[in-house]
Parts: sequence; structure tokens; C-alpha cells
Amino acid sequence: MQRSLNTSTHIAVLGGGYAGMAAAVELADAGARVTVFEAGPVLGGRARRVSIDGREIDNGQHLLIGAYSELLGLMRRVGVDPDFAFVRTPLDLAVEPGFRLRAPKLPAPLHLAVALLAARGLSWRERWALIRAMRSAETSRWRLVDDLPVADWLAAQGQPVRLVEAFWRPLTVAALNTPLETASTQVLFNVLRDSLAGSRSASDLLFPRIDFSALFPDAAARHVAASGGEVRLNAAVKLLVRDGDGWLVNGEHFDGVVCALPPHRAGMALGSVDACAPLVAQLAAWDYQPIVTVYLQYPASVTLPQPMVGLAAGVSQWIFDRGQTHDQPGLIAVVLSARGAHSDLSQAQLISAVVAELDTVFAWGEPGWRRVIAEKRATFAATPGLWRPANTTAEPSLWLAGDYTAGDYPATLEGAIRSGQTASRGIIAAFLAGTIL
Ligand SMILES: Cc1cc2nc3c(=O)[nH]c(=O)nc-3n(C[C@H](O)[C@H](O)[C@H](O)COP(=O)(O)OP(=O)(O)OC[C@H]3O[C@@H](n4cnc5c(N)ncnc54)[C@H](O)[C@@H]3O)c2cc1C
Repeated sequence: MQRSLNTSTHIAVLGGGYAGMAAAVELADAGARVTVFEAGPVLGGRARRVSIDGREIDNGQHLLIGAYSELLGLMRRVGVDPDFAFVRTPLDLAVEPGFRLRAPKLPAPLHLAVALLAARGLSWRERWALIRAMRSAETSRWRLVDDLPVADWLAAQGQPVRLVEAFWRPLTVAALNTPLETASTQVLFNVLRDSLAGSRSASDLLFPRIDFSALFPDAAARHVAASGGEVRLNAAVKLLVRDGDGWLVNGEHFDGVVCALPPHRAGMALGSVDACAPLVAQLAAWDYQPIVTVYLQYPASVTLPQPMVGLAAGVSQWIFDRGQTHDQPGLIAVVLSARGAHSDLSQAQLISAVVAELDTVFAWGEPGWRRVIAEKRATFAATPGLWRPANTTAEPSLWLAGDYTAGDYPATLEGAIRSGQTASRGIIAAFLAGTIL
């Protein structure tokens, strides 16, 4: 049986994103008194609900996969049923014009073999090249001795240009939010290993039916409150300093701290902690990549053949039909990940370009309501050999959580959740072991 912390052990969680709320749930369940500080008016951070013109949408359209086991487990623990919260489909990647890769309902690894063999829109030469590259990655047990950009690895694997544009580029940019030319092959391998090459259900696509604050953080906050904890909104952390054996957060004493701020803000909060100086300096040098979501309201009759379709040529990358998921008929969300040709366009130019592309492919005409949400620092750039900080710091009562901390995955919701669990379990263990007085 897991031992509990003394309920007088008061731990501050800085940041109410997915990492912070995962840490808060674990800490509350271990018996700690938890206070979450969230700067914004809603929970969720980079995956949150926004209300614009009377509409409830998300700051950015996200996609989850069946491999997100820790997030799904925590959702259940705080009372959100994944069967209700998601439309779940077997892997189905349709990229216009004409590419389609579908996983049949067969046990692994047969599902992948059949999906690759039956991939549509590829010549036999391209299909064989795709199978060869996947086999080569699998034979190396998804490990590279020296990490390298995905574009270089694909060239070494002799991948034809059409296959790269129809499959590898959209997949890499969507999964790593980093252009093919600078994206880490090792991180891509990690994602492929646990999704496409994992169990059949691991590669399932999970399209949320509810907004990203409701999906986990709001329910996590209720769970924490029910255990006597507190979640403070509009409560930006301005100062973190040592206070005897513990910490002062905005002048209030805590026994321990889990810092779950985004990497570009973590440096600011940790700046006054001497032991974190090297970490702060390293984080200051990081590069970030944007994600832009263009929301377009068409008549209710406008719909896609499935919840998500990719476009290989042009600026639009992945198109989501929120009529099929969120009961918002005719509302289309177009996702443009990473820096690219679209980055130089004004919002008006971007909308025009996207609307024209959708009209060419689907003949949808002009939308009514339209809105661009740009997240400039959506994720860190997942480049080859990138150093990522551990969850520990030189201070045993100060731990880091966040999608950027060391882990197999690129910046993802699952990575954020796992980091929150690692950090909270680490600080709990340190208190129980008496490492922290
Ligand atoms: C548009 C977009 C699309 C994405 N698509 C996907 C996807 O399809 N699939 C996927 O898995 N991942 C996706 N991601 C990545 C995913 O959203 C992130 O990896 C994840 O949400 C990061 O969670 P986090 O808790 O580590 O950080 P954050 O969400 O950044 O949480 C940090 C929190 O700290 C708060 N904060 C900041 N400063 C302070 C302060 N001084 N005091 C108190 N609080 C503060 C912030 O408001 C925020 O709530 C996407 C991200 C974006 C932006």
C-alpha cells in the first residue's frame, strides 16, 4: 500500500496546464495539501477552452492517440470517461490528393503490415520504400546511434519525393511540430514505436468531443478541491525564493514546489534560485515552433468524409470537422504546424489562402465567421540530440514538470502528463524518505 504524506505538507504547483494538473492530482491523492497557481483565467495552458464571439472553441485543434495511456488513466481517475470524451477511430490518415493509410481491425503487427501494403495513392515502388524504411527503423529497435534530421534519414533510406510529401512530411510536422529538415529522427522513432508500431489500439485516433479545459484540467481541479486543495486562477507566480527548508511563492510559505510552467516562463520563475542558474541559461537558448489554427464557419451542410483530412500541397495541413466531434456543424478547423511559407502571411492573407485551397479541393465556397488563433511558442523545436532537463533539480524540494522535460515524446499532452506524474512521485518519495526535512 502506498504511504501517505502528512496532510500538513503543503506543496505549490506552479502552472495549471496538463503537467501541473497531473502533478496536483497525484499530490492530492498522496495526502498532500496542494495549491495550484495558474496565471490565466482558465486551466489547460496550451490546451484550453477559449470563448470568442459567443463560441466555445479551443486555443488550437489537438489530436490524441490511443497510446496516451497515462492521460486516459488520469481522466478516468478524475471522473471523465474517455468513451464519452472522444470519438475514437482506427488509424486513418487521408491526405489529399489521393493518399490513404488505414489500419484494419487486426492484431499488431498485422494491422501495420496490412495498412502499409494496402496504402492508397502510392506506386508499388513507393509502397515498398515505405515498408523498407519502417522495417529498417524496427530492426534498429527504434534507436539511432547518432540522431539526425528526419529529411537526412529519409534521404538515406531512399524515400521517393512523392512519398515524403504525401506521408512523411505531414506525419512528422503533425507529430513533432518541427519541419522535416530540422526534426529529430529519434523523437519521430519514439512516436512511431509507441503508435503505428505499437498495439492496434495505440494507433487509434482520439478526437475530443469536449473542449480541452473540460477534457482533464477542470475535472482535475474539482478532484484536488475535494481533497482539500486549492486551485487559484488569475494567480501569476511572480517570485519564487528559498525560505528555510521550504519556499516562498509570491510571499507565501510552502514545503515543496512543482514548477509546471512552460519552458520560456520556467526560467523567469527559477531565475532567483541559485541552483537552477545553469538550467535557466540552457532554457534561454531554446527554439520554439508556432501552431496556427484557422477556424471557418461554413453552412451546416459542409462536412468531411471523416473527422480529419490532410492536404499535401499548399499552406493548409490538417483539416478537422468539428461538426463530427463537437456538435458544431459546419465549423472547420485548419491546422498549420511549425514555421513554413504561411508564417510570412498576414492573418487576412492566411484566411484567403486557406479558404481558396478548401474551395479548390472541396468546393465549399466562402465561409461566414472566420478566426485565426496563433500560438507563437506552441512547442519547443524537437531537433536532433536536444538536451532536455530532468524532473529533478539540485534542490530536493523543487521539481520540474512540463512537456519539455526529459522524455521520449515531443511536446505532447501525454508527455506533459507523464512529466507531472514523475515530478510529483519524486517529491512525494523525497518527503517520505526524509530527504526533505
Ligand atoms: C495549438 C496547439 C496544438 C497542439 N496540438 C497537439 C496535439 O494535437 N497533440 C498533443 O499531444 N499535443 C499538442 N500540443 C502540445 C500540447 O498542448 C502541450 O504539449 C501541452 O499542453 C503542454 O502542457 P504543459 O502543462 O507542459 O504546459 P502548458 O500548457 O504551457 O502549461 C503551463 C501553464 O503555466 C501557466 N503559467 C505561465 N506563466 C505562469 C506564471 N507566471 N504563474 C502561474 N502560471 C503560469 C500557463 O498559463 C499554463 O496554464 C499542441 C499545442 C498547441 C499550442
